Amino acid sequence: MKRVFNFSAGPSMLPLPVLKKAQEELVNYRNSGMSVMELSHRSGLFTDIITEAERLLRELMEIPNNYNVLFLQGGASQQFAMVPLNLLTKNGKADYVNTGSWSKKAIQEAQKYGDIRVIASSEEANFTYIPEVDRSMIDPEADYVHITTNNTIEGTAYATIPDTGDVPLVADMSSNILSSEIDVSKFGLIYAGAQKNIAPAGLTVIIIREDLIGHAAATCPAMLHYKTHRDSGSLYNTPPTYGIYMAKLVFEWLKERGGLKEMEKRNQEKAALLYDALEESSVFQSPVRKDSRSWMNIPFVSHSADVDAAFIKEAQAKGLETLKGHRSVGGMRASIYNAMPLEGVQTLVTFIKDFEKTVIEKRR
Ligand SMILES: *Cc1c(COP(=O)(O)O)cnc(C)c1O
Repeated sequence: MKRVFNFSAGPSMLPLPVLKKAQEELVNYRNSGMSVMELSHRSGLFTDIITEAERLLRELMEIPNNYNVLFLQGGASQQFAMVPLNLLTKNGKADYVNTGSWSKKAIQEAQKYGDIRVIASSEEANFTYIPEVDRSMIDPEADYVHITTNNTIEGTAYATIPDTGDVPLVADMSSNILSSEIDVSKFGLIYAGAQKNIAPAGLTVIIIREDLIGHAAATCPAMLHYKTHRDSGSLYNTPPTYGIYMAKLVFEWLKERGGLKEMEKRNQEKAALLYDALEESSVFQSPVRKDSRSWMNIPFVSHSADVDAAFIKEAQAKGLETLKGHRSVGGMRASIYNAMPLEGVQTLVTFIKDFEKTVIEKRR
């Protein structure tokens, strides 16, 4: 069986044991004679799946009891509207940090609903670092502060989570949820599209503090109201059942591997391997400031479009897939989420070193 190392930013690699387990259970789930895809979302078998998925996520992330877990559709992009629709209702103002393309989209969407202030930005430097955010910058009357913990396109991440005091912190964690230990109690709301580090596309995971639910305006559509989904246990309408099942398998896999503490260690090791190779390289470099570097998405550039194109083409021939960088950054980007094995990063680093030699020889 041919499997490649897929460095795609999302949808991205899923753990092979998870795919195999899904394959094993595909046509006849637990002797039901049905696939999970064919199960009623109200059936006992599916109830067990969604209950266990939530239980495992709570265990992995140590989610406190006063937080709700919701399994929704609509992607992280739908949260760009859902967050203000539900939370921008007390004082009608919120503070946002602008750290990249996804932050910008969140800001643009929120601006439709209230008074949005950008309290810090790294746009002037093409988003190559995470700006300083401290409590003095935050409006104590803001309904919430919004950050993007990991910037998938630019390859930056917060080294420490800003302290927002009593103002609830809302985080788009789409591309680094479950990659390391975090203190959920620092956040009012966490959201993540599943297709980066959880499951296939189509599922969005929300972790929301109980007191933040129930404040949406009367005109808020039922489907966009967190309360609707909290009250129905994410079963108001048909949820993305297969995605929830896949998420459950991924959570089991994470637990077997030792949980988030262990994932953090492995992710740090993988990222360090690649960053060290880029430090040593005379051809490629990271455009990101050292203190702001992501462990999940690692862009690198050669400053020659021809070299980049040759690199991507030759890498693909070696089973290193989807390394082309986002058009706003250029060059390459290696997304190395939980499911990317160490061997994948080692293979990439060896390839970078070999490729570099040929470039240097040609330059002579
Ligand atoms: C991928 C991504 C999104 C968009 O997710 P969708 O589920 O496609 O809407 C938003 N924010 C971040 C940080 C992302 O990585």
